[in-house]
Amino acid sequence: MAIIKTPIRTLFKIKSLSDTITTNEELWKEILQELELVVSKANFATWFQSTFIADQDSGRVVIGTPSAFVKEWLEDKYQKQILKLLRTRSPEVRSIEFKITPQSAPAVKKSPEHGPSEEQMDFREIYTDRETNLNPRYTFENFIVGAFNELAHASALAITKSLGTVYNPLFVYGGVGLGKTHLLQAVGNKIKKENPDKKVFYVSAERFANELVTAIRNNETGFFKDKYRSFDALIIDDIQFISNRTSTQEEIFHTFNTMYQLNKQIIFSSDRPPRSIQNLEERLRSRFEGGMIADVSEPDYETRLAILQSKTAEKEEYRPSLDVLEHIAASVRSNIRELEGSLNSVVVRSKMKKRPLSLNEVKDILSKNAKPKKILSAQQIIRRVAQFYDIHEKFLFEKTRRKEVVKPRQISMYLLREDFNGSFPYIGQKFGGRDHTTAIHAHAKISNDIKKDDRLKDEIKTIREQLYEEEKSG
Ligand code: ADP
Ligand code: MG
Repeated sequence: MAIIKTPIRTLFKIKSLSDTITTNEELWKEILQELELVVSKANFATWFQSTFIADQDSGRVVIGTPSAFVKEWLEDKYQKQILKLLRTRSPEVRSIEFKITPQSAPAVKKSPEHGPSEEQMDFREIYTDRETNLNPRYTFENFIVGAFNELAHASALAITKSLGTVYNPLFVYGGVGLGKTHLLQAVGNKIKKENPDKKVFYVSAERFANELVTAIRNNETGFFKDKYRSFDALIIDDIQFISNRTSTQEEIFHTFNTMYQLNKQIIFSSDRPPRSIQNLEERLRSRFEGGMIADVSEPDYETRLAILQSKTAEKEEYRPSLDVLEHIAASVRSNIRELEGSLNSVVVRSKMKKRPLSLNEVKDILSKNAKPKKILSAQQIIRRVAQFYDIHEKFLFEKTRRKEVVKPRQISMYLLREDFNGSFPYIGQKFGGRDHTTAIHAHAKISNDIKKDDRLKDEIKTIREQLYEEEKSG
């Protein structure tokens, strides 16, 4: 089994809030765990995977990063957040700096005699293979299959058996936290394990786009193209990210065609089906639709319980009772990521108490964790709908009857009524002083259409997910 060797570097001892001595490693691990909760998986893997605390001295913390690109990105986007997290643990921290230290990322070492220690297991959580960019913790073995993801699972498994020939591309779509990244990475890990000489690569569409932009800026597009075309299997996660980005779409199209002609496998994931990705070039859409499209929906109660059971098997200490697991499965319905999160908070609490928790204690924890249903502003709803359909917000308020505006306008009205509890006169007024009957009509129309039109239903579901998700990530 591949395990991570803790890199040799000086461990500066610092005092944390709880007055226990924490090493830099431990401290950073805690920070990463927190960040993982608020940053998307793809972003987490892209920006935080090979970071660590390189140095710490009189209130100044230096964070090592693998490249200039990551360094700049972290400085730009995460500096404040990281500082805040550090300070909650270690109030004497005054400032942070980033530096490039490419060699210091954890190295892989084979160790036949010893199993991985606990600490090393934890490192595996955030470890990504350098060559494939895959995280070994995502496997088929720990992926639970139920009616909700059966098709996606079966298709994914099928391509590992005949690479590039059965379903090319495979396009997996579904809502937040339902296992798309896990499944895609499991495919990559399995292909690699069974065919060590095949070149497999996992990348988020966001990172792909960023790399492309950098390559263009540095006149290195030739290198970029060669790199991507050299893979036997290419996995691109969260492809909806490229809506609107013409140059990225162009590059993906060409990469795809080249790979396709050579019978190389491409796998995509997305939060929505190809036909719902706004401003996607037609030729790319038809490529996406030319292979296999499989969705993942939400797991039912039984499956949620099975997932919780499989996830506790590994954490044998203070194992939660069946009652407790049933309670979690019944109360956390949104997605698998939150299911895991709730289980983790229970496990953490039992570790602190050094005993399994009672059902009442668990109920208490979950009710504190449960985020109150977010109160949205009308503005947020309208902005989100406009973004989703990729039109300028102002069109929604104008008199235009263009089809691409009418639908988002009606959906905005519908959501203002359903999720904001707006009165019909208010809603009519809000949209350029329209009459309340217009709002009533829009609400009735969407309510009715949802029943017949699965695509519309999915779109509204995604918009809602994004609306309620916003809170967490921003
Ligand atoms: P998505 O990419 O769809 O947002 P992820 O793949 O990141 O979702 O999944 C969220 C979390 O839930 C991950 O920790 C993942 O391991 C876990 N998970 C998702 N689906 C399953 C499954 N079918 N079985 C076990 N764990 C799962
Ligand atoms: Mg994902």
